[in-house]
Amino acid sequence: ARSWETRKVRTVCSYCGVGCSLVLHIKNNEILQVTADINSAPNYGSLCVKGRYGFEFYSSKDRLKTPLVRDNINEPFREASWEEAIGLVAKRFSEIKKKYGPDSFGCLSSSRGTNEENFLAQKFTRVVMGTNNMDNCARVCHAPSVTGLRAALGSGAATNSLADIEGAEVLIVSGSNTTEAHPVAALKIKKAVRQNGAKLIVIDPRKIELVKYADIHLQLRAGTNVALINGLLHVIIKEGLQNDDFIERRTENFEMLKQVVSKYTPEETEAITGVPKEDIIKAARMYAGTNKGMIIYGLGMTEHKAGSHGVMSLANLALITGNVGRPNTGINPLRGQNNVQGSCDMGALPDVYACYQRVDDPEANRKHAEAWKVKKLPEKPGLKEPQMYRAIESGDLKAMYIIGYDPAISQADINKVRASISKLEFLVVQELFMTETAKLAHVVLPTSCYFEKDGTFTNAERRVRRLHKAIPLPEGTKSDWDIICSIATAMGYPMSYNHPSEIMDEIAKLTPDMAGINYKRLEGDGLVWPVWDMNHPGTPILHKDTFKRGRGMFNDLMYTPSEELPDEEYPLLLTTGRRLYQYNNGSMSLRNPEICAINSEEFMEIHPADAAKLDIKSGEKVKVSSRRGSLEVKTELTEKSRLGSVFLSFHYPETPTNVLTGPGEDMLALTPEYKVCAVKVEKM
Ligand code: SF4
Repeated sequence: ARSWETRKVRTVCSYCGVGCSLVLHIKNNEILQVTADINSAPNYGSLCVKGRYGFEFYSSKDRLKTPLVRDNINEPFREASWEEAIGLVAKRFSEIKKKYGPDSFGCLSSSRGTNEENFLAQKFTRVVMGTNNMDNCARVCHAPSVTGLRAALGSGAATNSLADIEGAEVLIVSGSNTTEAHPVAALKIKKAVRQNGAKLIVIDPRKIELVKYADIHLQLRAGTNVALINGLLHVIIKEGLQNDDFIERRTENFEMLKQVVSKYTPEETEAITGVPKEDIIKAARMYAGTNKGMIIYGLGMTEHKAGSHGVMSLANLALITGNVGRPNTGINPLRGQNNVQGSCDMGALPDVYACYQRVDDPEANRKHAEAWKVKKLPEKPGLKEPQMYRAIESGDLKAMYIIGYDPAISQADINKVRASISKLEFLVVQELFMTETAKLAHVVLPTSCYFEKDGTFTNAERRVRRLHKAIPLPEGTKSDWDIICSIATAMGYPMSYNHPSEIMDEIAKLTPDMAGINYKRLEGDGLVWPVWDMNHPGTPILHKDTFKRGRGMFNDLMYTPSEELPDEEYPLLLTTGRRLYQYNNGSMSLRNPEICAINSEEFMEIHPADAAKLDIKSGEKVKVSSRRGSLEVKTELTEKSRLGSVFLSFHYPETPTNVLTGPGEDMLALTPEYKVCAVKVEKM
């Protein structure tokens, strides 16, 4: 197009796991408008407010455009050239590795990065730094999905595609405020119900918007997911509604499951969860009565002390009814940001290379060492993100490289996390804006957003899609993949690619599940992995004939109470989550004037009866405190939350909700228990 003409570029929304296809309308290298393509998966013309209006952040005056450096974090930053900044990072990382050993380093990457960037982050960490201390921001959301689904089915990914929602006969939506967190997926749920007559069971402590469409709302006490699902399993077994043929042919450990759930009678389950026993029975019959039953879930399942167990419980439910391995069935996590699936798939985790090849598997280890031309790669799984902070405290971790992630606002108990990060000898942060984490860095490297680079994202249904560079990089910035290559090269390991497509070619060579992916094949609607070879069409449904682990595993699980429940001193239960208009730490979404005109500040939801006891009126400012910190926020009186519970999101830096959260974490994946902690609310 000539410079005065509008050109259109197809790309992918990065804001949530639906991963909508976008059409950017561009003139003079400025994005004027965003629309959707009615012929393109998975959204077929639909977009939510963030996808349509949340694009202006890229031209914000706050964009970082020069590398910033300083010797210690009490000094102000000074601007540096790229040459100086990369040289300093390479020198300090090398010195720290030499002085304290490879495991004194940790890297965190992000779902805001492309697959290629996440792949290079883990390659850099393993090859150049020599450690598996690699994690990504899925640790604070869906890491329990990977742990739980891998234990049950052998693969940590969603089993079915988003299109399958519309043809399901019974939908269970558990711990997902889909309307706000994944709006286009919510449209598919509503279409299934209103147009196609599907039954809807909502499992959620809050009266979320989807409840309006539900046949049954199981409004459980936050943190009692495993007990509730055990209750459903109890009814299914007691009434003989299980799929015996499927259980016999394709699963193991059913007898143990039977024993464990025998204790969860409807009465006992009601006592633990607060859900009336009649509803438990009705929901169990409804789900077990179909062979097109689909489970969709969100962070209300994973962000608990028993988060991985909650995911395994849902898998028990799918396995016992044989609702897996066919269209319109399965168990499907809705990932928070678009590329949560991809950042995990790319091996930005402490124990696996791309597509979950284990670092301690000698064959996988040898294959990667050979391809990357190094004698040896570390075999011991590395530290998960929370373990990295503990290792800083114990003096074992000295340097970190954080790419596109803001744990100083997103992690739980952030006062503690910030204190730990501040003790690092050297911290490098790659960012678009001066985030809370960047403020603690020694070096800040200005990077690019998803309109400014080529690459791929993988959405919640495992669909790998092309991001097309639509506008030039702002002067002074670089792409994350380019920066990682520069640091590696400056440290003596030449890493160089002419284009991100070459990184994808390397991924395909090393990763059997992605062996059939290249950029040419990704044009259009992309490919849903596994894609075994260059003629393979992709795999929208997993576990058709066999599970990746052989047989599906029934995990026998007992209910484990949350780490911190309300008591006399802190009598209210705080649960946290997302809001429609905002995205994560707000650094991008709060820089869109259209969106901020509608929503730019936090309101704490509180039940009118709780507010009356405290003499609080709607809109009034209150002080909210936990054992870890306190903040001030305005209130909204609503019956959305259960009596005794309050709700806050985590999008607004002026209301840093995570000063309150903690101390619980998932027993297996170490994901913070954001959904339950005890607070008190005081009138100011
Ligand atoms: Fe689609 Fe999610 Fe982006 Fe909204 S935020 S446009 S639902 S990908």
